[in-house]
Amino acid sequence: MHKFQIAIDGPASSGKSTIAKIIARDLGYIYVDTGAMYRVVTFLAIKNGVAFGDAAALVALTRANKISFENVEGGQLTLINGVDVSDDIRQTDVTNNVSEVAALKAVREELVRLQREIAETHPVVMDGRDIGTVVLPDADVKIFMVASVTERAERRYKENISRGIPTDLAVLEKEIAERDYKDSHRAESPLKQADDAILVDTTGMSIDDVVNRIKELIK
Ligand code: C5P
Repeated sequence: MHKFQIAIDGPASSGKSTIAKIIARDLGYIYVDTGAMYRVVTFLAIKNGVAFGDAAALVALTRANKISFENVEGGQLTLINGVDVSDDIRQTDVTNNVSEVAALKAVREELVRLQREIAETHPVVMDGRDIGTVVLPDADVKIFMVASVTERAERRYKENISRGIPTDLAVLEKEIAERDYKDSHRAESPLKQADDAILVDTTGMSIDDVVNRIKELIK
């Protein structure tokens, strides 16, 4: 039987995960943070000394390690083989190299397979870059969430500070713009609004405003 699917795509720090988590909690759906999965593979590459361009070795690492999520009060943890790596995968060395890993076709195929498996068995809110275009092309609701680069840099800045990650706002803005460029210009599943996705610009909107807007769309 078809399970309800909500796809939320958009550039880095556009508010996808914050909103997706709230919607999933309120509807009793599973939240799938696909960016965290690409971050896990990047983190595994760093830990195991594997080059970011070595697709075969990265696929082997992905298969040898179990990626899972665990819901906790106020959020979701990302685990590798049962060990919490939620903070490790947000560190700068992962963030600045994840786009290179995510550009590899073989890595994407492996992770997309896992993402579809979850969506086959549970109603989901899934966020990423290619959910509405590639992973779940028949999703019931597709949102493309954007915000100005300045506002996105400010949001990521606050998030990093709250996680204890030292950050410079100007550098962050440059890094976000670079990551957007790489994610939008790669050959495999680039970041792109699906033809049937609804554009939501969250610049200047509160979290509540965005959640309410999306709930209206779902209805
Ligand atoms: O969402 P987040 O910023 O954590 O994603 C990290 C990176 O993972 C993105 O910059 C992108 O390179 C990659 N990604 C992707 N496809 C997805 C989700 C994330 O290529 N569906």
